[in-house]
Amino acid sequence: MTYTIRELRGLEILDSRGRPTVRARCVLDSGARGVASVPSGASRGAAEAIELRDGDPARYRGLGCLAAVASVGGPIADAARGRPFAGQAELDRFLIALDGTPNKARLGANALLAVSLAFARACAAEQGLPLFAYAAGLAGADPALPRPMINLFSGGKHAGGQVPIQDLLIMPLAPRMSEIMQVAAEVFQCAAEIMRERYGMRLLTADEGGLAPPFPSLEALFEDALAAIRRAGLRPGADVALAIDVAASHFYQGGRYQLGERALDGAAMIDQIERWDADYGLVSVEDGLAEDDWAAWPRLLDRLGARAQIVGDDLLCTNPELIARATQARAANALLLKVNQIGTLTEALDANRLARAAGWRVIVSARSGETEDDWLADLATGWAGDQIKVGSVTQSERLAKYNRLLAIEDEYGLTVASL
Ligand code: PGA
Ligand code: ZN
Repeated sequence: MTYTIRELRGLEILDSRGRPTVRARCVLDSGARGVASVPSGASRGAAEAIELRDGDPARYRGLGCLAAVASVGGPIADAARGRPFAGQAELDRFLIALDGTPNKARLGANALLAVSLAFARACAAEQGLPLFAYAAGLAGADPALPRPMINLFSGGKHAGGQVPIQDLLIMPLAPRMSEIMQVAAEVFQCAAEIMRERYGMRLLTADEGGLAPPFPSLEALFEDALAAIRRAGLRPGADVALAIDVAASHFYQGGRYQLGERALDGAAMIDQIERWDADYGLVSVEDGLAEDDWAAWPRLLDRLGARAQIVGDDLLCTNPELIARATQARAANALLLKVNQIGTLTEALDANRLARAAGWRVIVSARSGETEDDWLADLATGWAGDQIKVGSVTQSERLAKYNRLLAIEDEYGLTVASL
């Protein structure tokens, strides 16, 4: 069976931060069609594929995506139209070759990913499959629902930088998606109430919907999270686990971690993370160290890896070469998988395979700039991701994914991955 593209068009739309992004529409010869929109990060790794922006200050302050949209409807459509593709891998290899650069700078990773995903949706439609089943077919996996890792508090680049750590996340340990989402929403409401009492703030949220009050210290951020879980009538650690995304690359300067007033070297930063774990209990630590502090990562894994996930986001950029380097160096034990860091579904699947072959956990992640598209929920389910990280339980660009997971559970009865 082959798939022939009849029509391919791009559209500039707006993301959850009110910035332009790319949507693509793909129609196959059979009439089957797929539409997909791509997200955009703010707390980026240096090795990410290039998101093409126009740089024209007269439109959207330079952030316009008309060049990427033109890539979709111009060079990509012209070369792809009428040509039979055996499947997703062949389409993605064709896109990579057509771009011809190592980081997708010519046509834009945002253009390539929009096409890769719209094609996936069109093929799934042609096969009469829900997108997660199509994704499972690509991976040769049995689909399973990922366990959500949900943003409660935000700092760093996603908020006003009032605390250096980027996210404090909760992971409800309930067995079913419907209970997990209920627990998450109840803890969030309790946290919002505590914010009002302690900081006199109404519910102001950061880019991913996390609460972002002026915490007096990092300890207060952890303590408030434990208080919110308890106020919801739940037990920290037993009912709801804690996780952090330190995003340490973004406060690492001149070989030092600028943690508030303190400037820590790698060893002292590892000691600090170990203390947080001892005091508050962490099941997952993402980017605890900076993306270019490779020498320190194996020491963090040695110290904490038996108890917690040591997750590489900026460190790995969903890039198979960096993942291979990290498995050899024993630098992490979990991959944060963001499809737009690498630019096509097939390359993200290679990253997923490499991580799994090394025995790592995989956390499928959205970006801080998202759209109402819910493809990520299907992808995480189809590839049987251990977890999914989408943001908080407010804001519809986040809820589109959570609500899709609820619908998949209801309709197909899949079970949620255990921690
Ligand atoms: P983003 O970051 O702003 O680049 O999407 C999210 C994250 O660090 O996990
Ligand atoms: Zn991160």
